[in-house]
Amino acid sequence: NSGSDYEEDRGRVRVAVRLRPKNAEDIILDSDFADCVELQPELKRLKLRKNNWTSESYRFDEVFTETASQKRVYEVVAKPVVESVLNGYSGTVMAYGQTGTGKTYTLGKLGKDDASERGIMARALEDILASVSASDCVEVSYFQLYMECIQDLLAPEKINIPINEDPKTGEISLPGASVVKVQNLDQFSQLLQIGEANRHAANTKLNTESSRSHAILMVYIRRSVHEKVEDGITSWEKVPRTTLSGSNAIPLIRKSKLLIVDLAGSERIDKSGSEGHLLEEAKFINLSLTSLGKCINALAENSPHIPLRDSKLTRLLRDSFGGHCSARTSLIITIGPSARHYAETTSSVMFGQRAI
Ligand code: ADP
Ligand code: MG
Repeated sequence: NSGSDYEEDRGRVRVAVRLRPKNAEDIILDSDFADCVELQPELKRLKLRKNNWTSESYRFDEVFTETASQKRVYEVVAKPVVESVLNGYSGTVMAYGQTGTGKTYTLGKLGKDDASERGIMARALEDILASVSASDCVEVSYFQLYMECIQDLLAPEKINIPINEDPKTGEISLPGASVVKVQNLDQFSQLLQIGEANRHAANTKLNTESSRSHAILMVYIRRSVHEKVEDGITSWEKVPRTTLSGSNAIPLIRKSKLLIVDLAGSERIDKSGSEGHLLEEAKFINLSLTSLGKCINALAENSPHIPLRDSKLTRLLRDSFGGHCSARTSLIITIGPSARHYAETTSSVMFGQRAI
């Protein structure tokens, strides 16, 4: 029923939780502790156990155990968004969680040796490329947002790209950012790898971790259609009749956009111990994640005002975020199994609950 749910609550952000399998560190360092997370996938519930006596239970749109496959996560979390993007609506898929819990694995994994390991970005592009026709156009931009600066990951010398908002349509664009036409999945994988290498190099130069920046993939789709314009969709553009001949239907180009956002690690940096640059960094991450939380909350409460202008992260989402022209939004909260991270896990779970 995951697809049909979307029809009922268009504006709301849909939230899934994914538990990462235990790794060697969890097993060694946590051997004395009972697991603090218990999942009840059939009830779409997650229980957090503080100690032997106290536990709290939360409901989500979906709960993925550590054995959930990449394919299933894609199909439940991202596929409905991709399908609606192919139909001319914009949409966003985001991953939120502590560093090391599987955000990049879930979104960005390329699965070069094993296609079953592919993450949401590769699967989304695969579906999009398979659905469009030769006259349609699929393009991508890839950038990181670090301390309120947008850096092009496909042309890393561009480090301070502005956000432009069309005053009439509200459409968001990034003047000067690279936009690359994608023809096949191999070429897309190469782009993503170049982007990752640039991200790593840029962050080494800045002496910071990649986990302290948001990585954002934008996929632009333009499709020619020969049908009547539906009401309420603003992402259409009339093409002069002269550019197409031999057709009586009104030729149109339908534009839509998919955003896939690998958010900065949600862990709280110890402010008492941080100073100078690290403290500044922490403030910017808090600003963007807090403002994202506020927007998700405002949507869930059907508030007429969604405060999307408060940070660059939310400004970027403006035309592709729940509610706007029927845009669809999915959020995946990634968590680890370890009792050592009880506080961070609780905080991520609570962030996800703001949408429900
Ligand atoms: P994050 O991006 O949140 O910091 P990563 O995606 O880099 O976390 O994941 C940390 C490590 O855990 C990586 O080695 C990754 O391959 C592994 N991992 C994460 N989630 C899973 C999963 N569901 N199944 C298998 N390995 C995973
Ligand atoms: Mg990561």
